[in-house]
Amino acid sequence: MDLKLTPEMEAFRDEVRGFLQTHEDRYAPNAGDERPREAALEWQALLIDHGYAARTIPREYGGYGAEPDILKSRIITEEFTAAGAPRGFANQGISMLVPTLLEVGSEEQKKRWIAPTLRGEVVWCQGYSEPGAGSDLASLQTKATEDGDDFLISGSKIWTSTAAQADMIFCLVRTEPQAPKHDGISYVLFPMKTPGIEVRPLKTMTGSAEFNEVFFTDVRVPQSAVVGGRGRGWFVANATLKHERGMLGDPNATEARLHSLIELMKTERVDGVRLIDDPVMCDRLMQLQARVLTMKFNGLRLLTASMTGESAGMAGLVVKLQGCELNHQIAALAIDALGELGVLYEDGPYLRSKGSWQRSYMFDLGLIIGGGTAQIQKNIISERGLGMPREPKLASV
Ligand SMILES: Cc1cc2nc3c(=O)[nH]c(=O)nc-3n(C[C@H](O)[C@H](O)[C@H](O)COP(=O)(O)OP(=O)(O)OC[C@H]3O[C@@H](n4cnc5c(N)ncnc54)[C@H](O)[C@@H]3O)c2cc1C
Repeated sequence: MDLKLTPEMEAFRDEVRGFLQTHEDRYAPNAGDERPREAALEWQALLIDHGYAARTIPREYGGYGAEPDILKSRIITEEFTAAGAPRGFANQGISMLVPTLLEVGSEEQKKRWIAPTLRGEVVWCQGYSEPGAGSDLASLQTKATEDGDDFLISGSKIWTSTAAQADMIFCLVRTEPQAPKHDGISYVLFPMKTPGIEVRPLKTMTGSAEFNEVFFTDVRVPQSAVVGGRGRGWFVANATLKHERGMLGDPNATEARLHSLIELMKTERVDGVRLIDDPVMCDRLMQLQARVLTMKFNGLRLLTASMTGESAGMAGLVVKLQGCELNHQIAALAIDALGELGVLYEDGPYLRSKGSWQRSYMFDLGLIIGGGTAQIQKNIISERGLGMPREPKLASV
């Protein structure tokens, strides 16, 4: 890939920098596991208006409507990362459901759901996993039986992030119990306020309940809420998973985190020596930096592939595994850099960055599992990327 930019692109870079400088006082953090607050909603609206969020999503669905331009997108990402500016919401609705609807949703579904989701007014959760269906997702048992024009949904989901805050769920249900397991699934959208839904929080080691158990008892959902056709849910779910894994391993987010770690190591001192000047700590930092750069350049391989319309192959397969493990290791180095302060988590005078390093360290361990575990990612890389023999099924071992 030629990394030199034309004068037109340099002018675009100046434009983005100008925007970031002008609006520095309005930066609002992305919504975490809570509903977005006013300032975050306003920041999101500003980003959409200027084409820095929802850039290529058509205007009729509430996006900015720009033609896809990979170089411009890269410049935006670089400038936002360098300025430490939040890129707007990257929740499950925006990063997973919206691209899925654009690919396979009906016109009515696109018109109804994309704009309010982009603006952060409608918060979604993802109802895939069940107690007996995680890595082997196609084993899911939550059933949807026909009742006139509706389905009645019964069963349960687990590890449902943001279910307690969400307005809506995109959910996998079994509509054809007799069909082979991959063929009998449908992908349905319905409100979390529908009667018959119970959400029970699951507290994690971060101290908060990021995800939940969700129970369905005869939840009435119109059949028109199916996305991509009845019984086609497995294909639709995989479209969503592709976007989920890209988002979870986003190298730009990892690079931004590395920048924060560098700042931390410049600030923290032991016996008057900055941690970044400690040879052992610096060596660890540089090893991580090398891996972050590798993933950044791997990201450019993905860009090149999408510019030429070719499959990214291995470059695409490694993103989730590498990105999630790297994020966790960056947080781990930050905890070590904090020394005895690293064990603090609750509010207190010595707590750094409001405990965000500690939170990341604990939460990101989970993201090595969420969206497909590291072991499953390694299976995918070895079988699809390296062409190694398929893993024997349990029954044939
Ligand atoms: C932070 C977090 C957020 C999540 N958010 C959501 C959400 O919003 N919505 C949702 O639907 N789900 C969510 N999940 C669930 C997540 O997708 C599942 O946890 C994941 O798919 C793994 O499934 P499981 O937990 O059932 O583990 P299992 O599939 O039971 O796996 C247990 C262990 O066995 C290993 N294993 C299983 N099969 C194989 C194999 N064939 N080869 C090698 N090793 C294997 C796994 O890698 C793992 O180490 C979330 C999970 C986490 C941790």
